Amino acid sequence: MKPSAALNSPSEDPSVDEAPLLHVDLDAFFASVEILDDPTLLGKPVAVGGPASRGVVASASYEARRFGVRSAMPTVVARRLCPNLIVLPGRFDRYEDYSRQFHHVIRDLTPDFEPLGLDEVFADLRSLRLLNVRPIAAAQALRHRINNELGLECGVGLGRNKLFAKLASKKSKPRVVQGNLVDGAGVVWVSPELEVQWLNELPVRALWGVGPATAAKLEKLGLPWVRDLVQIDEKTLASHVGPSLAATLWAFAHGEDNREVVVDRPVKSIGHEQTFLRSLQGMDELVVAARAHSAVVARALRGQGRVARTISIVVRFDDFTGVTRSQTLSFGIDDEFAITVIAEALLASIELAHSVRLLGVHASSFIERSENQMQLTFGFEATSPNARERAQLVSRERQISYEALRDAVDDVRDKFGRASVGTASELRESGMEIETQRGRHAFGPEVSP
Ligand SMILES: [Mg+2]
Repeated sequence: MKPSAALNSPSEDPSVDEAPLLHVDLDAFFASVEILDDPTLLGKPVAVGGPASRGVVASASYEARRFGVRSAMPTVVARRLCPNLIVLPGRFDRYEDYSRQFHHVIRDLTPDFEPLGLDEVFADLRSLRLLNVRPIAAAQALRHRINNELGLECGVGLGRNKLFAKLASKKSKPRVVQGNLVDGAGVVWVSPELEVQWLNELPVRALWGVGPATAAKLEKLGLPWVRDLVQIDEKTLASHVGPSLAATLWAFAHGEDNREVVVDRPVKSIGHEQTFLRSLQGMDELVVAARAHSAVVARALRGQGRVARTISIVVRFDDFTGVTRSQTLSFGIDDEFAITVIAEALLASIELAHSVRLLGVHASSFIERSENQMQLTFGFEATSPNARERAQLVSRERQISYEALRDAVDDVRDKFGRASVGTASELRESGMEIETQRGRHAFGPEVSP
């Protein structure tokens, strides 16, 4: 590995308060793991992805990128650009092995990190203030360890917030210029002087939360650049993309991003995940699967006498990207209907740009059944003197719960907005072929410690 040079002079290593956020992104991760496991692939154009007509490239080696191959590109297009392209199917258990080692290295720097997918993490460096850690030096040390111990290359970005840290790691990477590979800086810090300059040059499609459909919409509105967003007021923006996304975009356009690093503390959860033999297309198919998953989770919760306040969904697309969404309620649930309602509301907020190969529904934040004031069950007080009173009590309890549930769904919509696309496709009557995922969440619900 060549010594990494920061875009800014390393002698001007900022303090952890000047560059509190760090983003690491492994280079061409899946393809690099395949090459490590089979050195005969070294220097060859390699892609990991779906080989079929509908398949997309999930990861491409830099040799493949020289021919214009990119992730999320249909495999047929990639083969046209690069006839010698070697397309391999993914081996996710192997990528997970590497990902765990990657997280070990990060954890040695700081426990305050948040994984994003298998090959990216955000870390908050501020707890290292008293140790006199300098961000650029720490980032360079990380790159050396990842290279020495995992055999992988990575780019590291440093910035005032997640927005700039992520943009910086992207900038730190090697890139292809006229068919030639040009080394990246490896470590890039976006200093306050660079922030405005970067925002001025940035297309809206490069912002977090802007999917292809939203990007097309903004471009149609004459707003292809982040600098264009600054020219219009947030209300006008909201009338086109909804209040939730408008607020986010407005903040980003002004260089503000208050998202914190969410540290992955071990949480108790019960979940059910499945990888589908045939990827699901459209919201209708997803909803059917979500109902089935919710039923499994509800049965497992009741089986263990648990009531959960947080419902999460995990969606992974055919292009190997993914989304996780969760909602915490003011009350606990263990009921199939209630879990389904929340899961569906979370699903409705996701932009379905690709078909879905994996769906998971998880329940967490358990509370004691006795602490739960509102619960959507047919339960009643044992002391209720007669059946009629019990029926009234049940009916009253259910009514409160339905209202609470409806409010919770409204909260989900306020928080995430509604997806701008998500066309319902015809529901295939033949039923879905479902293959249970191997490995984690193997067969049915899983309780993580
Ligand atoms: Mg990567």
